[in-house]
Amino acid sequence: MNKEKIIILSHCILNDKSKVKKIEKDPNPDVLSFIQLLIENDIGIVQMPCPELICYGLNRWGHVKEQYDHPHYRKMCRKLFLPILDQIIEYSANNYEVVALVGIYGSPTCGIYRTCSGKWGGELGSNPDIKSTISTVTGIEESGVFMEEIQKILEENNIELKMIDFNKEDMNETIEKIKELI
Ligand code: SF4
Repeated sequence: MNKEKIIILSHCILNDKSKVKKIEKDPNPDVLSFIQLLIENDIGIVQMPCPELICYGLNRWGHVKEQYDHPHYRKMCRKLFLPILDQIIEYSANNYEVVALVGIYGSPTCGIYRTCSGKWGGELGSNPDIKSTISTVTGIEESGVFMEEIQKILEENNIELKMIDFNKEDMNETIEKIKELI
């Protein structure tokens, strides 16, 4: 008998209101086809919490990974993931297949294969050259802080789980990767 399937999603895939506010909203037409694909294939969806929203609220600035890389945030990320870990264990013990955990490409918190890095911090008003500070921000091939802690927790619990990034810049690739898993 085929196992029923579950997927674990980063919070803002289903709720983009949790993201850092932008002057102009990102166009996001393909999210619908991603969600439709899951629903049409009867994949159960578990939505993870949004650590940035919980810890820094809706009026946070966009951060780089280095700003979130501190002991309290890491501890909080671990704590937030524990109820999700319990669900992964419970579903697996009851013959469900957890097909993947989906992060957010480029996020300082939820990126799996790419995050953003830079020499940010300090008071904006007293920075004489804010433009060159902003120009230090770049994408790097590392995980964000939440995903690093999730990877450690999964390893500590001997759980192997496929992890893929939700990449709005390349939704076709994201959708193709999901199709291979479901
Ligand atoms: S990437 Fe993660 S931390 Fe950032 S808004 Fe989405 S769920 Fe929240």
